[in-house]
Amino acid sequence: MIRVGVNGYGTIGKRVADAVSAQPDMEVAGVAKTQPNFEAHTAVERGYPMYAAIPERAPLFSDAGIEIAGVVDELVADADVMVDATPSGIGAENRSLYASYDTPAIFQGGEDATVAETSFNARSNYEDAYGADTVRVVSCNTTGLSRVVAPLEEEYGVEKVRATLVRRGGDPSQNSRGPINDILPNPIEIPSHHGPDVKTIFPDLEIDTMGLKVPATLMHVHALNVTLESDVTAAHVRQLLDKQTRIYVIPEGMGLDGAGKLKDFALDAGRPRGDLWENCLWGESIATEGRDLYLFQAIHQESDVVPENVDAVRAVAEAADAETSIERTNETLGIGLSGDPSGFGDAQVEAEAADD
Ligand code: NAD
Repeated sequence: MIRVGVNGYGTIGKRVADAVSAQPDMEVAGVAKTQPNFEAHTAVERGYPMYAAIPERAPLFSDAGIEIAGVVDELVADADVMVDATPSGIGAENRSLYASYDTPAIFQGGEDATVAETSFNARSNYEDAYGADTVRVVSCNTTGLSRVVAPLEEEYGVEKVRATLVRRGGDPSQNSRGPINDILPNPIEIPSHHGPDVKTIFPDLEIDTMGLKVPATLMHVHALNVTLESDVTAAHVRQLLDKQTRIYVIPEGMGLDGAGKLKDFALDAGRPRGDLWENCLWGESIATEGRDLYLFQAIHQESDVVPENVDAVRAVAEAADAETSIERTNETLGIGLSGDPSGFGDAQVEAEAADD
């Protein structure tokens, strides 16, 4: 059993802890929190040993009726792997703590790429993290882009990616973020920082990105234009993307016309917290013109990195190869929304091939 400690139990940390506890080869060694808020009470109910992330605040936990197992140093000493899910910048500060106990650490996308030996996306570069001491799971947007780029690159070669990222203003619980009523080019400078971040996974990729922020909390939406190295048909691309286990190609006829309905769909499907671990990519949007491919996808910012963290744990622990890990994570979490009832699959590709 790989004993995983989670430092920082907020949006990402609590989801990673639950995903770890669902794995047959992992257990939650404990979670470290700065304060005994509602999430701390939930963690205790779920049976996760609680550690004080800031030792001086330990008495606050007993005052709130929460028994702690110790302070964060003890968790780091006890764990086989630490997942740092603290706010951006704090992870880098925690790096020396993990190193001092020789405990491999996984950081999140809010940290600079320099925080770790390698940036990580399971589908794209699992092997780079194998046996590493430090790994950074890239951000939600970079994860979403990488999952699409990897199969396109393998199948057709990619000449250039151009992506416009319409980003949610904040997560549902982030009541201090915005905009409330505006549409912001963000960052105003072009290209945005997302392209360089994707290049931490695909160093040779040509990619330009532009970002906006809108008054929404549900998901991000990406508009992609990818120039491929060979002519393609929309049906062929669709079939390729449909085979990717962490991409849900939304079938026609589902009525899933936006992020709101996607979140409803996730809740109806009984997904914990309404999470959508997969890229949600509109099948009808896949269009081609020669070597140019266009598509829209929605990315659930709170959850797409969660299975990636689970796979990163196996990679640093050298516990499984990429295929085995991804399959196990997918199976245990229940990744893979229902298939394509529209019949837009093999038959269409074959028909188009016959027309060529
Ligand atoms: P969050 O604010 O929801 O959670 C962070 C938690 O860490 C909070 O509970 C906070 O109290 C706690 N914390 C603060 N200082 C700490 C410390 N010194 N030690 C331990 N815990 C501490 O943040 P989040 O959204 O979960 O983001 C965590 C990381 O994941 C960031 O790098 C972020 O960029 C990245 N990320 C976030 C999202 C997202 O959309 N929320 C998506 C992908 C990646």
